[in-house]
Amino acid sequence: MKTYEEIQERFGYMLDLRMGQLECGEGWHDLIWASLEKMEKHIPEEGWKIPIIKEKFGALNIQFHRGTMELRDISQDAEMLSQTICECCGVPAKTVKRDGWDYTLCNTCLKGDKND
Ligand SMILES: [Zn+2]
Repeated sequence: MKTYEEIQERFGYMLDLRMGQLECGEGWHDLIWASLEKMEKHIPEEGWKIPIIKEKFGALNIQFHRGTMELRDISQDAEMLSQTICECCGVPAKTVKRDGWDYTLCNTCLKGDKND
């Protein structure tokens, strides 16, 4: 799994994250990496940056302004794919509702046991 530092080192030039971090679990880091790799081919203008990458309703949300159709397609694909990947550890999972919130977590992470 890619670390935040690796993502920042490789794609930092196209990131300007408002919290200075990714606002989601590291289980989605590889998906973020793959999405940014696709997105950098479609950067619309110099200085274009992504301000928000976060979890929203159990899905990965990559937010930006002045996005092209290609960029929106890539972020929508990532949103859909993230709903099949445990946000915490990266194994196959699905979105479940708990206490009124949506989470995409595998059964192990849902139980809160961490044995990796
Ligand atoms: Zn998990």
